[in-house]
Amino acid sequence: MKTQIELAREGVVTPQMTAIAAEERVDAETLRASVAAGLVVIPGNSVRNPRAVGIGAGLRTKVNASIGTSSDIVDYDGEIAKALAAAESGADTLMELSVGGDLDRVRREVIAAVDLPVGNVPLYQAFCEASRKYGDPNKLDEDMLFEIIERQCADGMAFMAVHCGINLYTIERLKKQGYRYGGLVSKGGVSMVAWMMANGRENPLYEHFDRVVAILKKYDVVLSLGNGLRAGAIHDSSDRAMVQELLINCELAEIGREMGCQMLVEGPGHVPLDEIEANIKLQKRMSGGAPYYMLGPITTDVAPGFDHITAAIGAAQSSRYGADLICYITPAEHLALPNEEDVRMGVKAAKIAAYIGDMNKYPERGRERDKEMSKARRDRDWERQFELALYPEDARAIRASRTPEDEATCTMCGDFCASRGAGKLFAGDLRGDKI
Ligand code: SF4
Repeated sequence: MKTQIELAREGVVTPQMTAIAAEERVDAETLRASVAAGLVVIPGNSVRNPRAVGIGAGLRTKVNASIGTSSDIVDYDGEIAKALAAAESGADTLMELSVGGDLDRVRREVIAAVDLPVGNVPLYQAFCEASRKYGDPNKLDEDMLFEIIERQCADGMAFMAVHCGINLYTIERLKKQGYRYGGLVSKGGVSMVAWMMANGRENPLYEHFDRVVAILKKYDVVLSLGNGLRAGAIHDSSDRAMVQELLINCELAEIGREMGCQMLVEGPGHVPLDEIEANIKLQKRMSGGAPYYMLGPITTDVAPGFDHITAAIGAAQSSRYGADLICYITPAEHLALPNEEDVRMGVKAAKIAAYIGDMNKYPERGRERDKEMSKARRDRDWERQFELALYPEDARAIRASRTPEDEATCTMCGDFCASRGAGKLFAGDLRGDKI
């Protein structure tokens, strides 16, 4: 079976490309050329046909929601509820990142529950199974690792975050640097570093990268190059270890693309606002324009409980400068396993950020929706405002919870409603349009 990128290179516009082009109102042939060049990926799987979602150049910035059990909390129905909440809130993709309970079961149930492309991190299950089987995650052997990757692909994974870019050279950079205020924060990353140090060996995902590509290609799963040494603290952002891994991932993105696999590169977790643009430009330049998957990024370390906001600020900036897929962050980040409400909050914050970023990423597409909303506000046309809102039900619920005496106002200013006052003063004078 050929992958989307291979078919695109042969000039084929696949049904997925047709669907994405129609949904995003872009030319199907232009989209095909972008897929062929590796500028756009379409997560899917030959044994499962999820909703067609395009990630990359010329397309709307997408949002991923991550769910999954932990070793402390295993609630299979709860994970399904979170998956459905993410889909209802507008997530474009879902990552199933369980590390507790029956991992095959939760993965299969989540895949069956949604039509979204579902991704995961195979290292989690690999180290969990090695721990259960041998009592030591560092006893993980290569055959077991690759068998798990194939098992997960066969279940219908649409994209996989695989930590191929951590190698002995990257670890050396980290040691020579001599500091890491936030340590290492990627579960897969730190587990792989531990394995390499315990076994004194190279990362098999790097050493046998062709084997990783061959498995994912077989199912046309997008290979997302994981960011195991990503900064987990503002003061670690853009450090040598992080940049080194990014460089290797960009190199691997090119190799994988040449082999006919759809490639995505993952970006960092904590980045101050003024470093986001440089990070994205570096990734795009070094990878030949591979779609970039930003994890947040979180833009300050001091707002636990509100990291959906610190990340949304970073996500808007990321989207603006060219990031293609944003991983949401929930209010529970750094504190607890997210619950259903956290998932909803996280997705909504990231979707709003992506929308704001796209206003700048694609200025040529206009800002008609915002203009229409302004007019509806000026005219205090509440139904029209709800119609145009990104999340109408939330807006409607807030208004309904505090009803005004005069329906033509809201309880914010009541009798002092400036909008009503201006309407009386100027009536139709303000209804023109800028030429
Ligand atoms: S009451 Fe105040 S906030 Fe509400 S519509 Fe009027 S001006 Fe706007």
